[in-house]
Amino acid sequence: MFAYIPLEVLSTMEQKKFKTEVSELLQLIIHSLYSHKEIFLRELISNSSDALDKLKYLTLTDDNLKALAFDPRIDISFTEEGEKRTLTISDNGLGMSHDDLADNLGTIASSGTKKFLASLTDEQKKDSNLIGQFGVGFYSAFMVADKVEVTSRKAGEEEAWLWKSTGKGNYTLEEAQRDSQGTTILIHLNDEGNEYANRWQLEQLVKKYSDHIAYPIFLSYDQENYDQEKKDKDGNALKTVEHKVEQINSSSALWRRNKTELTEAEYNEFYKQSSYDTEDPLFYLHTRAEGATEYTTLFYIPAKAPFDMYYADYKPGVKLYVKRVYITDDDKELLPSYLRFVRGVIDSEDLPLNVSREILQQNRVMNAIRTASVKKILSEFKKISDQNPELYAKFIEQYNRPLKEGLYSDYANREALLELVRFKSSSEEGYVSLASYKERMTGDQKAVYYIAGGKEATLKASPLLEAYRKKGYEVLIMSDDIDDIVVGSIGTYQELPLKAINKSGAVDDLKEEGEKQETEEAKALVKKIKDALGDRVKDVVSSTRLADSPAVVVVDENDPSVQMQQLLKSMGQGDVEEIKPILEINVEDPMVKKIEGSSDEAYIEQLSSVLLDQALLAEGVMPKDPIAFTKKLHSLLSN
Ligand code: ADP
Repeated sequence: MFAYIPLEVLSTMEQKKFKTEVSELLQLIIHSLYSHKEIFLRELISNSSDALDKLKYLTLTDDNLKALAFDPRIDISFTEEGEKRTLTISDNGLGMSHDDLADNLGTIASSGTKKFLASLTDEQKKDSNLIGQFGVGFYSAFMVADKVEVTSRKAGEEEAWLWKSTGKGNYTLEEAQRDSQGTTILIHLNDEGNEYANRWQLEQLVKKYSDHIAYPIFLSYDQENYDQEKKDKDGNALKTVEHKVEQINSSSALWRRNKTELTEAEYNEFYKQSSYDTEDPLFYLHTRAEGATEYTTLFYIPAKAPFDMYYADYKPGVKLYVKRVYITDDDKELLPSYLRFVRGVIDSEDLPLNVSREILQQNRVMNAIRTASVKKILSEFKKISDQNPELYAKFIEQYNRPLKEGLYSDYANREALLELVRFKSSSEEGYVSLASYKERMTGDQKAVYYIAGGKEATLKASPLLEAYRKKGYEVLIMSDDIDDIVVGSIGTYQELPLKAINKSGAVDDLKEEGEKQETEEAKALVKKIKDALGDRVKDVVSSTRLADSPAVVVVDENDPSVQMQQLLKSMGQGDVEEIKPILEINVEDPMVKKIEGSSDEAYIEQLSSVLLDQALLAEGVMPKDPIAFTKKLHSLLSN
């Protein structure tokens, strides 16, 4: 803590008016940020940290300052004398000269801010979100102050200066004294600010916003001790007051340190501390970007998917910092929602401290960080899938499903995501990738085949699979409830069409060359069954891909699968127009042949109807009228 001795008001004291835009800005801040008045502390500490950064840099690069012995620190203290309370924030950073004080605190330094202010209408000025577009910084102190006194001495200079203002249009600048370089900000707290002259409040605010500032922040306070052994003359325990100075931030922004100097144990410890997980993460990635936008990211993938991953009001896991100053941990836009399981930190050099949620969403810097981060995260996943299949299997066990959501929602990264998602398969154990499927494809196969909609066991038992197996075609088993929607939206993988074998588009794929023409007999048979089933089906088609079953139901290429329709219905969306199945029949099957050979209409109707219902049953779908079904079955079996 550096004491300063203001000189008697000198004849040289200057009375200056704020530049008009400062007065205007002050009013704006006081009114619109009022509900977040505690942020003034964050802003002042951040200014101190910047000043320390600057001086540290100069002691390394400026010959005049190389000799300066300098132990960077920030000190906070407070006084309480009845109603008059003060708060002091002091640093031994670069400091400000007379002209710096006038330029920095008497005017708005950034011309962008000036233009921005000028462009606002009165209506817009009332909107607190707009204020997030520029750093309010120092001036936020006036939310909690009747008067602010800044004593500063610039590194390398002899004289110190005292800047004073009540924030009402004027400030004064006079000579002062300060033992060494740095800045001390003395805040005479107003009624709204009185609560901050309090040890617990200050500790809590520093922990919340400034814990990872690179420099130590010390709080001085008086601790009252009562000695029970010694009594005063009234018989009360003797009170002694002990003055304490305690560091209250952890001052280590782990993510700002060099990768090479960090151990895996340190990374994991930081993860567990900051995410309240008891398990080590599956893996992490630490990136520093330099150039047009400067930022650091440290992302972790938890070993277990967060419990709220499928809740609409899940808690996002990435915290945003600006220059090590904590901004928010509750912004779902920092990463796309399909990456909501990712934990960690984004720390930007270029965003304003006061950036608001609304602004973040359209902020150019934030968009650049998000886009690059997603790419980086996805390419890390790819790297792990290539280099560490065992780890990747664990990852897929937890996060396959959100990645599939990405296929649907993140068009720009679809190619990358297609390499990451995994599916079960008709011919392989465990999960397979599309790439490995493609490698296993045999000569004449021209599509990626899959079957979707339904439980894994049902799909694997589908009569349709048999014919593909015989041909040597692998079929992906897509049993995740979103597979049907997601895969339907992909269309192709590396120019190969993705075809659902239980949809109409794949019906002809197994036909041999020269077999394309449907025979007249088959046409007549199809018509017979179609007439018998009437509006219960969308269509009846014949095929040769059914080896051992008389018939299957498929749906039109763009319709949801039969199971998906049931799911929608169970979710209360069943009012939508009923989608009818297409009945695909095996003209070689003896039961179907019976229909061909008969001219008894009642018999044909019974057989056709049972043909349809048993095909639905095989898909795990109840016949529409189970009683009619059993009656018909009974009658057929009895004859
Ligand atoms: P910002 O920090 O966004 O630039 P501020 O209004 O908070 O805006 O501060 C204006 C300028 O005043 C800073 O850019 C810096 O040059 C100077 N300044 C503020 N606080 C300090 C400090 N503690 N030490 C040195 N310079 C400071």
